[in-house]
Amino acid sequence: MIKKYKVVILGAGAGGISTASRLKNAGVKDILIIDYADKHAYQPAWPLVGSGDEKKKDTVKPMKKVIPNGIDYEQQKVKFIQPVERKVHLDNGEYVMYEYLVVALGIQLDFNKIEGLEETLGKNGVCTNYLYDYLDYTYKTLKQTNDGNIIVTKPKSVIKGGVSPENSIFTFDEFVHDKKKDKSHLILKTGRDTLFPVEKYRAYIEKHLNNKDIEYELNQELVKVDGKNQRATFKDLVALETYEVPFSMLLVTPPMSAPDVVKQSTLSDAEGWMDVNPNTLQHVRHLNVFGIGDCTNLPTVKMGAAVRKQVPILVKNLLSQMNNRPLTSHYDGSTACPVATEYGQAFIAEFGYDLKPKESMPINQGKTNPLLYQVKKRAIPFMYWHAMLKGKG
Ligand SMILES: Cc1cc2nc3c(=O)[nH]c(=O)nc-3n(C[C@H](O)[C@H](O)[C@H](O)COP(=O)(O)OP(=O)(O)OC[C@H]3O[C@@H](n4cnc5c(N)ncnc54)[C@H](O)[C@@H]3O)c2cc1C
Repeated sequence: MIKKYKVVILGAGAGGISTASRLKNAGVKDILIIDYADKHAYQPAWPLVGSGDEKKKDTVKPMKKVIPNGIDYEQQKVKFIQPVERKVHLDNGEYVMYEYLVVALGIQLDFNKIEGLEETLGKNGVCTNYLYDYLDYTYKTLKQTNDGNIIVTKPKSVIKGGVSPENSIFTFDEFVHDKKKDKSHLILKTGRDTLFPVEKYRAYIEKHLNNKDIEYELNQELVKVDGKNQRATFKDLVALETYEVPFSMLLVTPPMSAPDVVKQSTLSDAEGWMDVNPNTLQHVRHLNVFGIGDCTNLPTVKMGAAVRKQVPILVKNLLSQMNNRPLTSHYDGSTACPVATEYGQAFIAEFGYDLKPKESMPINQGKTNPLLYQVKKRAIPFMYWHAMLKGKG
């Protein structure tokens, strides 16, 4: 055993660090954060890196710089969780014990669910914006592609950064036209049966795709990649048939699921996600356990913007639980999805569990606007590093 802590936080991403800072600001002592990563990333900027409008190195900081002073940090992989025993087992064979647990382990990328993908990723025009090490290859490939199909995929599964494929296809389209690469053909293929769950923003995305003459198809799931011959196999989820499409560039958003360590614990629901109360973020069976962000079964679009709204609610409710008071702070599913419709233009979809627009700015956020691009590119990252991770804002 390493030690017993008052609060153990699993995951030092957006949810883990922000929660730790807020708990510390509220006077809670004796907190440990566990994460295997040595860097903390601002992932929402990654599609901009892939489109050449942001530098990869500006999206990360050393983990030690974002862990709040006075909070212990264990750089280890969490191997398994025993909620009844209140134990977290680590990769090095040690375990820690806790009074209260916050699970903020993010979402798992399942590249291995697509046949042939892992061996060709980062080669043969096969790209992803979901792994830091591959971001530069996306932009390099975009610049080198002069003709043929540029295919952007989106899986049927739940994903983080819900509109990242749309951001990429719109900016790629502008890049291709600017550079007069008119022999390139852009295609968006999504395993979903709709472009977006909120009608107002679905209609905007559809309008932009049609205005730009971008081909798009619903219910088409990427199932296999033959990198050497640059052919992608899709499954039509309605006709249940598979077919091949040649590509020059393939930008893959992989299928995703709950982290294995959550799936394998008694904290999970039937689909493997952290089983939390959608309003209080408290675990439905283990009352000393809370969950936040992408690893949970909160029925909203998984975004950093959602995490930002969840943090103060989780912390208030955790403090109430510590003091045997009722949990009165309620999350309404608020989330926000910025969509760059071209370099320098964006709209921001914002809504909650009821899938009705709930816009926080005094303008129509569904209408594309240069200001909203700057909000996405500059204001939100600034707020992330300087306020949210420090337990403010
Ligand atoms: C390409 C892309 C585009 C995006 N676009 C946007 C956007 O425009 N707007 C927006 O708001 N959000 C966007 N997001 C989503 C946003 O980054 C996530 O929703 C947010 O980071 C979720 O926070 P989290 O704390 O739940 O998970 P994360 O921030 O992913 O943190 C999880 C942490 O858990 C750690 N971990 C995982 N497993 C283990 C283990 N077994 N042991 C130890 N540590 C572990 C990881 O190392 C990581 O540090 C995007 C994400 C990506 C990748």
